Amino acid sequence: MRILHISDHADPLATPGGEFCGGQNVYVRELARRLADSGCTVDVVTRWADRRLARQEPIAPGARTVRVPAGPVGPLPRERFGEVLDEFCEGVVGLHEETGGYDVVHSHYWYSAVAALRLGERHPVPLVHTHHSLGAMRRAAIGRDAADEAGEHFAARHRIERRIGLRAAAVVASSPGELADLERQWGTPRHTLHMVPPGVDTAVLTPRDPALARAELGLPGDAPVVLFVGRLEPRKGLADLVSAFALVRRAVPGAVLVVVGGEAPERRADPGPLAALVERHGLRGSVDLRGPVPHAATARYYSAADVTAVPSHYEPFGLVAVESMACGTPVVATRVGGLRWSVADPSVGTLVPPRNPAALAKALVDVLTSGTAERRQACLDRATSVYCAERWADDIRAIYRRVAAPHIAATGAEQPPLRRRL
Ligand code: UDP
Repeated sequence: MRILHISDHADPLATPGGEFCGGQNVYVRELARRLADSGCTVDVVTRWADRRLARQEPIAPGARTVRVPAGPVGPLPRERFGEVLDEFCEGVVGLHEETGGYDVVHSHYWYSAVAALRLGERHPVPLVHTHHSLGAMRRAAIGRDAADEAGEHFAARHRIERRIGLRAAAVVASSPGELADLERQWGTPRHTLHMVPPGVDTAVLTPRDPALARAELGLPGDAPVVLFVGRLEPRKGLADLVSAFALVRRAVPGAVLVVVGGEAPERRADPGPLAALVERHGLRGSVDLRGPVPHAATARYYSAADVTAVPSHYEPFGLVAVESMACGTPVVATRVGGLRWSVADPSVGTLVPPRNPAALAKALVDVLTSGTAERRQACLDRATSVYCAERWADDIRAIYRRVAAPHIAATGAEQPPLRRRL
C-alpha cells in the first residue's frame, strides 16, 4: 500500500524540543517507519523549513520525507503557516501527481487537512486525519491572547476541523476524551472515528540503570530529580513548574529540576526568560537547563529522574507522559486533554489542576518522599499494554486497509510502485 502523510510544519527528521518541533514530528516519524517496516511505501510531505536539509531524505527503508518549498526556505512560526498554505497545498497535489498517486492520504494537524481536502477535490483518494490539536480546545485552555488565536484564524481553523471530520474516511483520535469531543462538538460521524493511542518505541524508550544514567548525564547520584521534557511554549506550564519547584525545595532541600528542551544553552539569550525566572526564584544551581536533546537520548533522562512533571495548560495527547512511563518513571501531570486518561491510574502518577503551582508542588513532594519502586512496575505495565507501538501501527494499517478497499476496487488495483522522480 502506498501512503502519503501530510505533516505541514512537523518535519519527521527535525530534532524535537525547540520551539516548533515536538510530538507531531515524533509521531509521524515513528508511524512512517513502522508502516514501511510492515511493507507499505510511505512518503511524508512537509514544508521545507531548513535549507541545510535536502529536498528529500530517507526515514527508513521504504519511507522518506519530501520537503516542498512554501515561502522562503527557513523556519516559520506555526501561526504564520497560513501565509504559505496555498503554495504548500499545490506542492502536495504536485507530489501526488508526480509520483503516480497514493492509496491513502493521512493528514496531521489542520493546515495539512487543508492540503488533504484540496487533494481530495482533484483526485479520488481516501483521506485519514489526525488532529493532534483542536482549535477550540486550545482556545478554551489558553485563552485568546496567543498569536495564533486571532479571530479570523480561529474561525478558519474550526471550519476546517469540522470539514475534514465530515469529508475524511477515517479520523484517528488519540484518547477517549478526544473521540468524545470530536463526536459531540465537531460533529464527526461516529463511524469514521477510531481511537488509536500513539505507541512508544520501547526499543529506545526503555528503562536504564538509574545510577548509570545519572552518572552519564553528570547528575548527582543521591539528589531527588524532577524532570521536564518538552518545548518551552507558555502553554507547557514550565513557569508554573519553576514556581512549584521553589516550594518543593523547601520540603526536599536537595532536589534538582532538570529541563530538557527549549533553546540550546549556547544559543540562549543571556539570560533567557527561563533562566531569568529561575534566578527570580533563587533556584540557580538547582535547576539544570539542558536544551533540546535528540529523541533517543531522552530515555537516559527519564531513567535518571524520580518523577516527570507535565504541567501543561493544554495537552492534546502528551507523549512525554507515556515515554516517562515506558522508562519506569512516574508522572505528575495536569488534569487536561489526553493526560486525564494516560495518567488516570494513581499507580502511574498523579493528576493536579492546571495553573496551580501549590498543588503541583504537593504532588511532586508526595512522589519524591513516598518512594517510586511500586509505581515503576505499574508504569512499565501501562506503557507496554496501552502504548505498544506495534499495536498502534497495526491498528492504523487496518484503518488504511478498510478505507482503501473501495478505492482500490474502483481503480482496479493498488497503485504501481511510486515513481521516485523528485
Ligand atoms: N522531545 C525530544 N527532545 C527534546 C524535547 C522533547 O525528543 O529535547 C520529544 C519528546 O520526547 C516527545 C516530544 O518531543 O516525544 C514532545 O511531545 P509531546 O506530545 O509531549 O508535546 P508536543 O510537542 O506535541 O506539544
